[in-house]
Amino acid sequence: MEIETIPVGWIRTNCYVAFDPDTRQAFIVDPGDTAARILAFVEKNKLHVSHILLTHSHFDHILALADVQAATGARVCVHELEAGCIEAPDHAETRSLRMPDLYIKPAKVDQKLHDGDVLALPGGDFVVLHTPGHTRGSVCFDNGEVLFSGDTLFESDCGRTDLPGGSVLDMQESLRRLYHLSGDRVVYPGHDVSTTLARERITNVDMLRAVQA
Ligand SMILES: [Zn+2]
Ligand SMILES: [Zn+2]
Repeated sequence: MEIETIPVGWIRTNCYVAFDPDTRQAFIVDPGDTAARILAFVEKNKLHVSHILLTHSHFDHILALADVQAATGARVCVHELEAGCIEAPDHAETRSLRMPDLYIKPAKVDQKLHDGDVLALPGGDFVVLHTPGHTRGSVCFDNGEVLFSGDTLFESDCGRTDLPGGSVLDMQESLRRLYHLSGDRVVYPGHDVSTTLARERITNVDMLRAVQA
């Protein structure tokens, strides 16, 4: 599996395009903005996108969702707790972030995810890990080698817990869960650089605090 990182939008959210170089089958994680750039990569590499996975429903992870869905026909997958915000975007959220003019196009959710669901994707089966704390329906996608961690786990950091639906205690529980996954993973977070789980287990103060709590 190859993974292309496309930083999008003014918060530089990481949109990922993961694909099998032989079959050209692909999936996209968090189409956060600038659909044209994401679709240009898909087209240039002649990819067939079967799924669009969302780690959560914050605007900076979904702004290009409706356009990318329309262009690819891919199945949109999001945790059941956040499916409502995708189909009827909550503009109170963007107003509270002082972006009253931001308009999020609604998109159809094809699959509501639950903890433990297994998705058959290019690059193998990915397990859905429900990891609340940043939002109630935050998830990570894990295939045993690669972990798409959304805004739950970052390099040397974790997602903020002070937005609506956030919870410090839930975040600690989620970080503990990731810490205790067996083996290492390459971690592809929702923002900033990729890292490894082994590195975060040693250096991530938030994760270490959670494990010791
Ligand atoms: Zn977020
Ligand atoms: Zn984010």
